[in-house]
Amino acid sequence: MTVLVTGGAGYIGGHMVLALLDAGEKAIVLDDLSTGFRSAVWPPAKLIVGDFGDMALVETIFREHKIDAIAHFAAKIVVPESVADPLRYYLNNTTKARNLLECAVRHKIKHFIFSSTAAVYGEPEVNPVGETVPLAPINPYGRSKLMTEWMLRDAGQAYGLKYAILRYFNVAGADPKGRLGQSTPQATHLIKVAVQTALGFRPGLEVFGADYPTRDGTCIRDYIQVTDLVAAHLMALDYLRKGGESLICNCGYGKGFSVFEVIDVVKQVSGVDFNVRISGRRAGDAATLVSGPERIKSVLGWTPRYDDLPAIVSQALDWERRLHNKSNAENWRLTNSAVR
Ligand code: UDP
Repeated sequence: MTVLVTGGAGYIGGHMVLALLDAGEKAIVLDDLSTGFRSAVWPPAKLIVGDFGDMALVETIFREHKIDAIAHFAAKIVVPESVADPLRYYLNNTTKARNLLECAVRHKIKHFIFSSTAAVYGEPEVNPVGETVPLAPINPYGRSKLMTEWMLRDAGQAYGLKYAILRYFNVAGADPKGRLGQSTPQATHLIKVAVQTALGFRPGLEVFGADYPTRDGTCIRDYIQVTDLVAAHLMALDYLRKGGESLICNCGYGKGFSVFEVIDVVKQVSGVDFNVRISGRRAGDAATLVSGPERIKSVLGWTPRYDDLPAIVSQALDWERRLHNKSNAENWRLTNSAVR
């Protein structure tokens, strides 16, 4: 059997493909390469360049391959961008997901693993957050993902599709074997931005708000290492294949770090004291989001392997250096071939 991985040329989807291949599974990637990279898709996974909302294309894939599960990662994921252009988010994360679901139901695909987000909780009253607290997203990104959760729940009830909804907290780090990492040059995620700053690829780092009701005034997040995260997806798939009931799980370690604490760790691990400037709050940010990770442990038996912020930062630094060396080598090759 084969797993269709939408967004498999992206950061988390690419790590999922690696995990599937490492586990001896077959993977087909559907990615429009809008933010993903061809080079992120490791062989023998096959890359199909296209739109996951294109029903004719998806149906062709289902006809031509024996797919038993979909792992759906393709999405727009930047909170402030979702505030500025909500309809783009509803199109990508909701409308197109509906099309994909319809194709899945029509072709009797058995299992659906969905990348959801802690943003569906909004500004929770209590942290760590359990899966049963009220869902009240405070930005279009969270709402666009929550609507897809609802569609999945309804489709599960009506058509028997079994699903696992995994609500990610903050994903960071890179493949411990150095095969993959976060490659988007303009990525806005804190650890990525901080390591780029430490390595001198950005002039400084802006802290978006130091007046939140937290221990040091900056936002608190739960940073989960990407290989640990995709391991939970494989376990969820295994659980569904063995007849488990549809499932909603938080993915995080249950520990929160403030923006200042993350910056300190990046400074310590890199040995560089870079520029930090405090600016105004960013639209759509919750003060604190920390996962209550009991369910993922009890239902799936998941145990983290890389729950260590300095180690996560070190992986991110290694990957950033590797990316930089690769792009220098490519520029050198281009320049020299032009001269010749
Ligand atoms: N953040 C920041 N400066 C940056 C990037 C992020 O201060 O350059 C803050 C952001 O406001 C949030 C936290 O870091 O409080 C985590 O943001 P990120 O974009 O990494 O993930 P999010 O929680 O939005 O999914």
